[in-house]
Amino acid sequence: MNLAELQRIYDQPFFDLIQEARNVYLAHWKGDEVQLCTLLSIKTGGCSEDCGYCAQSARYSTGVKAERLMPKEEILAKAQAARENGSTRFCMGAAWKGVRDGDPRFEQVLDTIRDVSKLGMEVCVTLGQLSEKEAHKLKEAGVTAYNHNIDTSPEFYPEIVTTHTFQDRLNTIGAVQKSGMAVCCGGIIGLGEKEVDRLKMLEVLTNFDPAPESVPINCLMAMPGTPLEDQPQVDIFQLVRLIATTRIALPKSKVRLSAGRTRLTREAQALCFFAGANSIFYGDKLLTAANPGKDSDLELLRELNLTPQEPHSQMACLS
Ligand code: SF4
Repeated sequence: MNLAELQRIYDQPFFDLIQEARNVYLAHWKGDEVQLCTLLSIKTGGCSEDCGYCAQSARYSTGVKAERLMPKEEILAKAQAARENGSTRFCMGAAWKGVRDGDPRFEQVLDTIRDVSKLGMEVCVTLGQLSEKEAHKLKEAGVTAYNHNIDTSPEFYPEIVTTHTFQDRLNTIGAVQKSGMAVCCGGIIGLGEKEVDRLKMLEVLTNFDPAPESVPINCLMAMPGTPLEDQPQVDIFQLVRLIATTRIALPKSKVRLSAGRTRLTREAQALCFFAGANSIFYGDKLLTAANPGKDSDLELLRELNLTPQEPHSQMACLS
């Protein structure tokens, strides 16, 4: 889709937009399943990069301590707990620039993935930049999806990151696509970008071939100590418009309501689900930011007659 088409969808009267998104959702997805995903930071802090929104960059004084790569046994225990709590996708994130074949830390991650993938959940990792070689090794080890967000529009990207480029992101995504792993790719809103930047980001995503398997939509959690610490909270109706436009533009992608849910009321989250979000991160903590507790999430889903995706099932996309 091009920007003009996305803008036309986004600018519709609010209720027309969310109704259209709901219709698209019902045409492509069975029932009202929501996927619960658990995200674990397997290597926290001390990152060389300067992403302006991130508390894990070593360049900012955020109070996040640099830690070593988590041992396999610890990760496996967390993965087992996630499965017992109903998660069907386990995502592991590491705060570093990227991975390189032959690096002992990469070998350790591969070894961990081989065991985590035996638990029967989808396995997603977010390890930064890689080339085709590393991508193939991750796929062989059992990774189902690789997360690498483009964050924002190509034009606005240099305002928030200077240590790597938008093209670097696309190169990594290209390597992931070639390996056969699914691509999980979305962005963050509330970085100081304009609404049109969000649509330009979506324009890039809609032109991926194949389309991204999942699209996380994050709202900035302004972290003290980062350059973006004073950014105001995102307007809820702008968030809902973006989710609805994403659902219409990428009907078969899982749309993940990601960081920033602690700031959303239950009613606001209900609107997001109506507009087409069908996946949430679940558990008390995202990489470094708070997340609603699992019990309050399950209660909200129950009240909205939404069902967590059954373990060991594929979420049904009807087309
Ligand atoms: S977003 Fe990732 S690459 Fe950027 S500073 Fe944070 S951990 Fe590093």
